[in-house]
Amino acid sequence: MKTVLSGIQPSGNLTLGNYIGAIKNFVKLQDEHNCYFMVVDLHAITVPQEPKALRERSEMVAALYVAAGIDPARANIFMQSHVPQHAELSWLMTTLVHMGELERMTQFKDKSEGKESVGAGLFVYPALMAADILLYNADLVPVGDDQKQHLELTRDLAGRFNHRFGEFFTVPEPYIPQVGARIMSLDDASKKMSKSSPVEGSYIAMLDTPDQIRKKISRATTDSGTEVVYDPSTKPEVSNLMSIYSECAGISLQDVQHRFEGKMYGAFKKELGEVVVAALEPLQKRYYEIRESGEIHDILARGAEQARSKAAQILDGVKDKMGFLPAK
Ligand code: ATP
Ligand code: MG
Repeated sequence: MKTVLSGIQPSGNLTLGNYIGAIKNFVKLQDEHNCYFMVVDLHAITVPQEPKALRERSEMVAALYVAAGIDPARANIFMQSHVPQHAELSWLMTTLVHMGELERMTQFKDKSEGKESVGAGLFVYPALMAADILLYNADLVPVGDDQKQHLELTRDLAGRFNHRFGEFFTVPEPYIPQVGARIMSLDDASKKMSKSSPVEGSYIAMLDTPDQIRKKISRATTDSGTEVVYDPSTKPEVSNLMSIYSECAGISLQDVQHRFEGKMYGAFKKELGEVVVAALEPLQKRYYEIRESGEIHDILARGAEQARSKAAQILDGVKDKMGFLPAK
């Protein structure tokens, strides 16, 4: 059985981009794979986090995993910081990665742009991500399009380690969906939708109320023209909304286009609002039940225990290969 690993940062309110680009695929993969789904709190602190908010969002992300359909009986759900081997392997990976490689990462460029001071953690973020994946010898990593470059670097690091110290790591493959791998901001289709955006109208949060969802969609920027046609190069904004429709209604982009032939943007946006509300409402109901029950703490404890046993075994192997003296 192949191993799957992925994670989401508790750095804001989870968005429709996180749901479509990541979580929906986690749910799909859990039946036939050995899955590890983390809440990557160590990654979240690469930008400043308020401690109280970090704790609340960490629980929120884990509960959203379960509410969205990840079954803790089939997949390991855990907090990254509950498995100390992530931080330890991350240091070892930091010594393998080159400065030039880190400097080329577009996420670092985007997130550090215009900032007066940038923590070194943001720069070495890809080394921690490589550690996350390699710590379980994951075969497959379901991510959105924006993480493709980091995953390429992970593959390079796995290869570099194997070349220098002898075959050890599995070189992981990305699993990127055909539609919905890059959901764009509602106010600017040149930027991806992000949960850490300061502009609230730029994203739909998975926990937005039906009215907030309808309002945000009705205010979403649309291209000039009137036709509901899928063409990301000439109509990036409408095409983005069509991808959201397709993913939330479970129909192809072609069918979305047919459905709105001869209709205007207004009619399309109105129906899109209802489609998104219908996709999120049952999930939200489950979410509040899960939070109420407090069951998430037990789920996280079990997930971390299983993750730690696998991670400890891999880390021992890595340290042995690298020439560390074993502790007696
Ligand atoms: P942040 O702004 O804090 O980086 P984020 O919204 O980018 O938050 P991450 O925690 O960095 O979320 O990423 C979690 C997963 O969601 C990753 O697999 C990432 O590729 C995916 N993802 C993030 N944004 C989008 C998007 N707009 N469309 C599709 N997938 C996305
Ligand atoms: Mg991100």
